[in-house]
Amino acid sequence: MKNRILVTGAGGFIGHHLVKRLKAEGNWVRGADIKLPEYEPSAADEFERLDLRNYENCLLATRGGIDQVYNLAADMGGIGYITAYLADISRNNILINVHMLEASRQSAVSRFLFSSSACVYAQAKQKSADVTPLTEEDAYPADPEPGYGWEKLFAEELCRYYRHDHKLSTRSVRFHNVYGPLGTYDGGREKAPAAISRKVALARNGGEIEIWGDGAQTRSFMFIDDCVEGLLRLMASDYHDPLNLGTDRLVTINELVDLVCAVASKTLIKRHDLSKPQGVRGRNSDNTRLNKVLGWAPSISLEQGLAVTYKWIEDELRKAGRVLVQAARPLPESERANAAGQD
Ligand code: NAD
Repeated sequence: MKNRILVTGAGGFIGHHLVKRLKAEGNWVRGADIKLPEYEPSAADEFERLDLRNYENCLLATRGGIDQVYNLAADMGGIGYITAYLADISRNNILINVHMLEASRQSAVSRFLFSSSACVYAQAKQKSADVTPLTEEDAYPADPEPGYGWEKLFAEELCRYYRHDHKLSTRSVRFHNVYGPLGTYDGGREKAPAAISRKVALARNGGEIEIWGDGAQTRSFMFIDDCVEGLLRLMASDYHDPLNLGTDRLVTINELVDLVCAVASKTLIKRHDLSKPQGVRGRNSDNTRLNKVLGWAPSISLEQGLAVTYKWIEDELRKAGRVLVQAARPLPESERANAAGQD
């Protein structure tokens, strides 16, 4: 039998893709978000614009016999954003999570999935670019990313308390850098793959682009289709403890730039800005438990995922008149000096 499902954050990147997939599988879906999806209409049966920091709005979102809640609503962004707004992000997300959990209990929801983050992991364990992949235990002793990481870690705990005290069946997923089309690529909240794709798309071939930090910091990246597949599998499982959901292919940001340049058929010079935030030095996902619990792990390669993502961002920029159609050839030396061309 198909489910009645609420997706919060359905106007955002992961929530929008998740709604599409849940609908394609025949579920009845309500989306809730403070804003509509930016790039295409939602596939949800109902979409309600609600500020979920407000408890009454959480009750509205969960009304009418909802079986499952995917709680993806959050005030979030890339490293520049989450290091700049510690108080606001913490307050907004604490309110959303506390109220969504309580409203789900009041509305007798059967399963509640909380979207946590790899930002919960102890910073001291991420000081080397050649980082040891993080197992779920590495979140303790607690030393997470200030603000965003602390509130995610506390909300994981709160899920555990609601399970213990109120028998609400919860799941907590720790995403590691999700990317793909239909995600924010501009404006300050975008994350590295989208920001780099935008910069490469806007740069003239042979020109230069700005990279935050020295580019030797490392991460792993997961394509959105793998992320959605993992979410469905986790919700269907009976696993309650926090679980990594990411790939375990570690790349430097410089390598990520090279991959995007290869997709774009461009040769660009990297200009490193050491004054910009770069987050922890290295972060990778240990997928041992993911494999064991779900019998599955993400498999879409970075090359495949970036090809789709870059093309979508380049098309968006072209539609907005920000990128010109240009031949994929290196510029002659004489033209390079004028080739900065990025925003
Ligand atoms: P997103 O910013 O695209 O989506 C989040 C959505 O939440 C937005 O549409 C936003 O409008 C909505 N929202 C914010 N405040 C709200 C409020 N007060 N009421 C109602 N809606 C509100 O982000 P995303 O990438 O889709 O992330 C989804 C979830 O996954 C978030 O909880 C995020 O913290 C988590 N996460 C994402 C990543 C990633 O790489 N994308 C990594 C780790 C964790």
